[in-house]
Amino acid sequence: MASELIKYLRDLSHLAFPFNCFGCKSALDEGESPICDDCRAHLPRTHYWRQNENTVERLFWGRIKLVRATSYLFFTKGGIVQEMMHQLKYNSRPEVGQILGGYFGMELDDSWYSDIDVIVPVPLHKDKLKKRGYNQCDSIVVGLAQEMKKSFRLNAVQRIRSNESQTKKGRFERWVNVNEHFAVTEPDFLTGKHILLVDDVVTTGATIEACASAILLVPGAKVSIATIACPNPV
Ligand SMILES: [Zn+2]
Repeated sequence: MASELIKYLRDLSHLAFPFNCFGCKSALDEGESPICDDCRAHLPRTHYWRQNENTVERLFWGRIKLVRATSYLFFTKGGIVQEMMHQLKYNSRPEVGQILGGYFGMELDDSWYSDIDVIVPVPLHKDKLKKRGYNQCDSIVVGLAQEMKKSFRLNAVQRIRSNESQTKKGRFERWVNVNEHFAVTEPDFLTGKHILLVDDVVTTGATIEACASAILLVPGAKVSIATIACPNPV
């Protein structure tokens, strides 16, 4: 009786708040993944992870020294990737990041990531974190780490506004623009490691460049980049 009641209430709530695909918004069946099979099958994959000197790697040439760089999907205006990124960043749906990070991790070859030691997100400034409630990159990192069977560290790097820095600039800091910079908070942990730095989208690469530059000040640190989306072409 109780289980029937639970089922009845669940069906009722499903009518009131139907579950919709994060990509195409079509109604989902109970138990179906929040990204429908059709959207998953038609994700606009870049396949850059199978391509040396791909467009994302080239974006950073002459700017920072990276081991590898890739994005998972092409981002087009009005497309399903834009919709999913919107859900992830602005609609309180961090689970989109974990799902896409998981898909990405499944498609990356072991040879692409076997020498990576730890996965780290590009951090948000704490004010933005407070407003949004979560860093959208954290869930991507978790999804990737689960599939790649790698460890991750969510707070190894911090994003700071310049006026908060009362003391002299630290050894492991790099500016992103006149107002913000990144500081490595756990340099000892990152020493000598190959770090996979994760962001949701890469466009100009300025933010990733500044964050990676801070990490590269740590002795022996190497950096690779993975983002869920990039424009086509970058
Ligand atoms: Zn869909």
